Amino acid sequence: MIPNLFDYQRAASLDEALALVGSPGTKVIAGGMSLLPLMKLRLANPERLVDIGRLAELKGVRELPDGRLAIGALTTYSELAVSPARHYGLLGDALPDIGDVQVRNRGTVGGAVAHCDPASDLPAVLLALDAEIVARSKRGENVYAADGFFTGAFSTALAEDELITEIRLPGPRDDAGSAYASLAQRASGYSIVGVAAIVIKEGGSAITKAGIALTGVGDAPYRAKAVEAALIGNEGTPESIAEAATHASDGVTVNGDIHADSEYRTAMAVAYTRRAIAAALGRLG
Ligand SMILES: Cc1cc2nc3c(=O)[nH]c(=O)nc-3n(C[C@H](O)[C@H](O)[C@H](O)COP(=O)(O)OP(=O)(O)OC[C@H]3O[C@@H](n4cnc5c(N)ncnc54)[C@H](O)[C@@H]3O)c2cc1C
Repeated sequence: MIPNLFDYQRAASLDEALALVGSPGTKVIAGGMSLLPLMKLRLANPERLVDIGRLAELKGVRELPDGRLAIGALTTYSELAVSPARHYGLLGDALPDIGDVQVRNRGTVGGAVAHCDPASDLPAVLLALDAEIVARSKRGENVYAADGFFTGAFSTALAEDELITEIRLPGPRDDAGSAYASLAQRASGYSIVGVAAIVIKEGGSAITKAGIALTGVGDAPYRAKAVEAALIGNEGTPESIAEAATHASDGVTVNGDIHADSEYRTAMAVAYTRRAIAAALGRLG
């Protein structure tokens, strides 16, 4: 299909982009991996595209003085995979299976987060890690917690006139283990069920903190707080992991579609939650 006619403007600076974002009929384009297919199908019909793809200030990964990692919104999956971010076990697991080589070379972190596809992998990783999403508009900077940012299918807390500029991950820690386990669609790589898990043992043998997030299951990626609560205070025996995982889709209306009906997805949510937690604990040493 061929998209409707649209105007195209390449932003030369972040300020120029921010001046244009939010005007009626205007859409930002980064890698174009999600937006262009929607335009070709005429499910999205922007009158003007503002291309932010060459804004150098939004690219790259840097370590902040407090040890956190800041990932520029225009960083591609391929760039992320060779950055210090790959040392986060769950990111190292998730990145190679996202899309194909073209998608990983063009698709950006900011685009994935803003688009909020219900089966997108990265939002689950960010939720489990308690990441922050930094946005800018002409009005200033806004920092969103990942938890609460993904509000529904293709819907986020981002305001119309905001651009995501950066994602911040907490610094790596020795007492944490993390993993990502997913059942992927063969053709696209999108998750039928994807589970990001991080478990922390501060001092003793019991789990003191856990971040468990699922994608592909409900309307939007979400934190499985009942699983997290069930893990706290136990040592992560196979029985306790299996019991905690049974809460994987508590309170969630589970999707059913051509790839998996809701009953199968519910079962896979439990199975892959168990696998992700076990793998995360295995990395704690
Ligand atoms: C064949 C195929 C397979 C795929 N497989 C997977 C998969 O296995 N797992 C997975 O998670 N994803 C998958 N994807 C989706 C892919 O991850 C996203 O398309 C990509 O990351 C989006 O980034 P982009 O830069 O291309 O965004 P674009 O397509 O340019 O933009 C997407 C949306 O985000 C907005 N946007 C972009 N950047 C910003 C910003 N900085 N601030 C605010 N809004 C912004 C745009 O306005 C648009 O609404 C697949 C895509 C394709 C085409």
